[in-house]
Amino acid sequence: MTRPNRRRFLAGGAAALLPAPAIAQRAAKVVVIGGGFGGATVARFLKRADAKLDVTLIVDSATFTACPFSNYVIIGLREMQAQQFGYDKLTAEGVTLAVSAARGLDAGKRTVALANDTTLAYDRLVLAPGIDIDWNALKGYDADAAEIMPHAWKAGAQTLLLRRQLDAMEDGGKVVISSPATPVRCPTQIYERASLIAYYLKTRKPKSKLIILDAKDTFSQQRNFQNGWKELYPDHLEWVSLSQGGGVSAVNAATKTFVTDFDNFSADVANPIPPQKAGAIAQSAGVADRTGWCPVEPISFESQLVPSIHVIGDAAMTGAMPKAAFAANAQGKVCAAAIAALLRGAKPAEPRLINTCYSLVAPDYGISFAEVFKPANGMLVDVEGAAGSSATNAPAEVRAREARYAEGWFKAITAEVFG
Ligand SMILES: Cc1cc2nc3c(=O)[nH]c(=O)nc-3n(C[C@H](O)[C@H](O)[C@H](O)COP(=O)(O)OP(=O)(O)OC[C@H]3O[C@@H](n4cnc5c(N)ncnc54)[C@H](O)[C@@H]3O)c2cc1C
Repeated sequence: MTRPNRRRFLAGGAAALLPAPAIAQRAAKVVVIGGGFGGATVARFLKRADAKLDVTLIVDSATFTACPFSNYVIIGLREMQAQQFGYDKLTAEGVTLAVSAARGLDAGKRTVALANDTTLAYDRLVLAPGIDIDWNALKGYDADAAEIMPHAWKAGAQTLLLRRQLDAMEDGGKVVISSPATPVRCPTQIYERASLIAYYLKTRKPKSKLIILDAKDTFSQQRNFQNGWKELYPDHLEWVSLSQGGGVSAVNAATKTFVTDFDNFSADVANPIPPQKAGAIAQSAGVADRTGWCPVEPISFESQLVPSIHVIGDAAMTGAMPKAAFAANAQGKVCAAAIAALLRGAKPAEPRLINTCYSLVAPDYGISFAEVFKPANGMLVDVEGAAGSSATNAPAEVRAREARYAEGWFKAITAEVFG
């Protein structure tokens, strides 16, 4: 296969992006790694953009387990099965499924090696591996420690472990959550988790308490969360900001202790949310930089480091856009349209992307914010005047309505991606 000159490619521009003649003779091959919100979306929308494309989705499990609403699973208001989705509808639309983790790739030869020893060739590759925990970035927190102090920031076994620990905790116990500096996956939902666990304590174990130790002084939706906490959980939830000594520098799994510069906090149930980085395959592919995340150009989500590899979702470093399922889904659609355009020699259109995030302060108390993004100066920036969030003084019926909208959002996005 004739490959485009690497330097000319990186320089960008539609002329440099025309398909090589050899590709024009056959269906172009697009391989997608990771079947979560970003990867499943891009695979599905690539086929919809051009049914002739040969699209393969590499997944590490035949079942995907979603994080949104997993905080409900932790407090026993939802079962794990409601979080799980398969890929039948994608294969019915012509996406080829490869159920075996991608373990490495050769960007020069444009091939991906799978754990089952098969190799797949691609013309364009999309990486959507989500996050990995940056083990030991929080001193003392490694994979063994996570079996005692679960992070539950990837849904699945960790979610259920945290649920069992909460369930087993005596009334009068102490739950401690530590919250890291950004960027991390969906930081707003750390405060949703704290709220829902406080709801569980108030309703099931009222002598117990939850403390959030935070590496930040401010966070998204802060006024709305704090108003809700004051109203609903004055005796059950305490937030310790960075400047009040909330920054955790180490943990000790043997004693379930969080160490800050000023104090040690021991917990009956310990839930550290540790620093994170792009999924391992992105690190080994060379598309992640020293930050651990993957710089991309904001129109096609092509890597700024390796040509013909696109990165979407949590793994990507996009500027202002948060790491959220809604964002990964929006990026998947934009990336699919851009790749289809590039493969037919056209210039991708400049996109506008939306992210909306609902959080539950209690099962009948929802809050939300929405933002719009556009490309500028090599990244995504907020469209001024286009963002909005729930009013800080909204009445109870609005909060209850937003809680219902949150459930509607989850149904809608999972139906679009997997259904
Ligand atoms: C508690 C919690 C609540 C949340 N709530 C919300 C919410 O309300 N709204 C919202 O918008 N977002 C929410 N999020 C964030 C959301 O879950 C993520 O932003 C979203 O899943 C990112 O999508 P992604 O495709 O980048 O990664 P993922 O959805 O994690 O998908 C990545 C997939 O790739 C797989 N993978 C990784 N490496 C390989 C490999 N080498 N080979 C094959 N497969 C691989 C992974 O196992 C995974 O299945 C929440 C997150 C948490 C933790």
